[in-house]
Amino acid sequence: MVGHQGSAPCIPVWKTGVFLSTLMPGEMELIVVVGCFKRRNNPDMTIPAELLQRLAVAKSVTVLTGAGISAESGVPTFRDAQTGLWAKFSPEELATPRAFRRDPRLVWEWYEWRRKLVVDAMPNPAHLALAEIERLFQRFHLITQNVDGLHQRAGSRNIIELHGNITRTKCSEEGTIVSSWKDTGDVPPKCPACGGLLRPDVVWFEEPMPEEEMQLAMTASTHCDVFFSIGTSTVVYPAAALPSEALRSGAMVVEINPQPTPFTPQAHFALAGAAGVVLPKLVRVISASRRF
Ligand code: NAD
Repeated sequence: MVGHQGSAPCIPVWKTGVFLSTLMPGEMELIVVVGCFKRRNNPDMTIPAELLQRLAVAKSVTVLTGAGISAESGVPTFRDAQTGLWAKFSPEELATPRAFRRDPRLVWEWYEWRRKLVVDAMPNPAHLALAEIERLFQRFHLITQNVDGLHQRAGSRNIIELHGNITRTKCSEEGTIVSSWKDTGDVPPKCPACGGLLRPDVVWFEEPMPEEEMQLAMTASTHCDVFFSIGTSTVVYPAAALPSEALRSGAMVVEINPQPTPFTPQAHFALAGAAGVVLPKLVRVISASRRF
């Protein structure tokens, strides 16, 4: 477990019309990280007392999740090596509009593979714990970069999906959601209304972010008492800027990730463990502390 104390760094707000990217936006200001960094041997994953005290009185909690929270459900993260058939392609080669224009069949088939993985997967203890935590606070927002729908299946309700959902399909020409189509053997299938190619309803790298969801995510991040960043490498922007926005707005910010990330030095607390281990423990201690 890593503890950190120090002044909040300076990270700017994104502009509207931002695009999904692993690069920091060009207008990023200088990031100033000031703090003292303490690494403690903590095999029993004790939840820091200061965090528990804040959670005991917190009215509003916001959580940002990334692919890591679904890793224990068997859904690979993008930082994991891709497996089997797909090992030779990087996600950046497959999850872009350019890739779809170049080889729509390849991209559709990759998503078919991922869709099947997701449909066969089950929510894990981390997803279930977040659904429980939601019931313990007056205001709770779950912002997810995940496209797998596992938070919904675990029972979470107040979810902001930043990158869409792999289980939905849309027309690549008109952007309308398409729920059924005739199987003509075309890969990808064609839109029944206009004949355009169908594609997954997800935000690809280099595509604009959905404005309403971004606005909701920004408000939830800047109006909370405690902010959790869970299972995200904090390298995919603009979602990666949300923990810093929460920090700037005065929230206590906690990271849960077995590996350090670029954000770790700025977090008030970095709980270095798997989400499926840390979150159920957190639910138990929060439930006990909020009974009084
Ligand atoms: P990422 O792949 O960049 O990083 C995953 C992070 O999760 C890493 O920092 C890793 O250390 C951490 N992690 C791994 N196992 C963990 C565990 N058990 N508990 C907690 N943390 C764990 O993921 P990202 O930051 O979400 O960004 C990648 C992009 O890929 C996002 O846009 C996301 O939409 C997309 N994606 C989504 C899914 C999904 O929906 N399940 C899967 C892969 C990628």
